[in-house]
Amino acid sequence: MVNIAELKTHAGIKELRLAVREFIKEEKENGTFKVMCDASISGFSPEFSKKLAKKGWIGMTIPKKYGGQEKSNLERYVVLEELLSNGAPVSAHWVADRQTAPLLLKFGTEEQKMKYIPSICEGEMYFSIGLSEPNSGSDLASLSTRAVDKGDHWLLNGSKIWTTGAHHSHNILVLCRTSPKNEKNKYEGMSQIIVDLKSPGVTIRPIYLMTGEHEFNEVFFEDVKVPKENLVGVEGNGWQQGLTELAFERSGPDRFLSTYPLLEELIGTIKSDGSDLSDLRDLGSCIASLVTLRKMSLEVASLLEQKKTPNTEAAMVKDLGTQFENQIIHTTRNTISIFPSLDSDKLIEVYAAQSILHSPGFTLRGGTTEILRSIISKGVNISG
Ligand SMILES: Cc1cc2nc3c(=O)[nH]c(=O)nc-3n(C[C@H](O)[C@H](O)[C@H](O)COP(=O)(O)OP(=O)(O)OC[C@H]3O[C@@H](n4cnc5c(N)ncnc54)[C@H](O)[C@@H]3O)c2cc1C
Repeated sequence: MVNIAELKTHAGIKELRLAVREFIKEEKENGTFKVMCDASISGFSPEFSKKLAKKGWIGMTIPKKYGGQEKSNLERYVVLEELLSNGAPVSAHWVADRQTAPLLLKFGTEEQKMKYIPSICEGEMYFSIGLSEPNSGSDLASLSTRAVDKGDHWLLNGSKIWTTGAHHSHNILVLCRTSPKNEKNKYEGMSQIIVDLKSPGVTIRPIYLMTGEHEFNEVFFEDVKVPKENLVGVEGNGWQQGLTELAFERSGPDRFLSTYPLLEELIGTIKSDGSDLSDLRDLGSCIASLVTLRKMSLEVASLLEQKKTPNTEAAMVKDLGTQFENQIIHTTRNTISIFPSLDSDKLIEVYAAQSILHSPGFTLRGGTTEILRSIISKGVNISG
C-alpha cells in the first residue's frame, strides 16, 4: 500500500502522475477535448471514458476478477487529481466509478458484481444516483418512492429529481421504500435497487442549468417492473448502505477541484499580462487553502484504503472544498478585471462564467453545507 508521505517520492506514483499528464497533454493537443470547469458533471465524452478505461484508469481499486486494476486509493487519487485539475471530460463514467462500483463490491451479489462492474471498468456502463425527490432533499428519509414485492419482481412507483446524467446513464441506483414508513424509526424499511433506465414506465425530463446545459433531470417511475435480483444488499438496509456510498461521494478531489482550471488560468494571466503583483494576498490564501484541503482529502483516501467509512471527515472535506471552489471565483474577480462570459475569446472569462453559473450547486450537491455541518458536529469527538 502506498501511504500519503510517499506521494511525492514513490517511484510508481511519480510515473503514474507523469503518464496521466502526458496522456492529457496529447489529448489536448489533438483537440479531443476543451478544458472546462466542473468537468466531472459537464464533460461528457464516452470516447474519452473508453480511452481512460483502456489505460486502466477506471475501476482502479476494483479487484482484477471484476475487471479492475487492484491499485490503491492513493494511486486512484493521483489519476483523478490530474484529470480534474485539467478539466478533462470524465462525467460519463464518474458516478459509476466513484460510488456504484465500490458499493456493489461491498453489498452486491456475485451475479450483480459480474454483471455490472466489468462494464463499469471498461468505461461503458454509466449509473445515476437516485436519492433526491421533489419533497425529500436534505430530509432524505422522508422519501416516498416505493417498490412493492410482487413475487417475481418489484413494482416501482414514484419520482426522483436533480438526477445528474440520467439522460445518458444506463442504470440508476434508486433508494426507495420497500416497507411502509415506521414513524418511530424513519430510517428503517428503505432499500436500494438497480433500475434499467430503458425500462417501460421510466420517463426522464430535463432540467436545464443557467448555462443552458442539460445535466440534470426529473425521473418518473410508473409501474416499473424491476427484476427481484436487482435489490442491492439487504432489504430494509438501504439507509445504512447509502451512507457508505456518501463517503465515496463527498471526499474526493471533485469536491474541491471543480473551479481549479480558473485558478490556473488566473495565475497564467497574472504572469503573462504584467498585472500589478503588489497585492496577491487573496491568491496566496487560495493556494494555502488548496494545500490544506488536498492533505485532508488524501487522508480520507487513506482511511478508505483501510476499509473505514470516514463520513465525518468526508463531510469536512466537502464543506471546506465547496468554500474553496467559490474562493477561487472571488479571488479571480478581486485580483484582475474580467467580464465573465461563456462566449468570450479569453479562456479566463469563459472559465469564470462556467464557475459562476455552476456555483449555486456546489454547496447543494452531495449534501448541503448546513447538513454537512450537522454531521460534523455530531461526529467530531471534542472531549479529547
Ligand atoms: C449540481 C447538482 C447535482 C445533483 N445531483 C444529484 C443526483 O445525481 N442525484 C440525487 O439524488 N440528487 C442530486 N442532487 C440533489 C442534491 O442532493 C440536493 O439538492 C440536496 O440534497 C439538497 O436537497 P434540496 O435541494 O431538496 O434542498 P432542501 O433540503 O430543501 O434544503 C434547502 C435549504 O434548507 C437547508 N436545510 C434543510 N434542512 C435543514 C436542516 N435540518 N437544518 C438546517 N438547514 C436545513 C439546506 O441546507 C438548504 O440550504 C444534485 C444537486 C445539485 C445542485
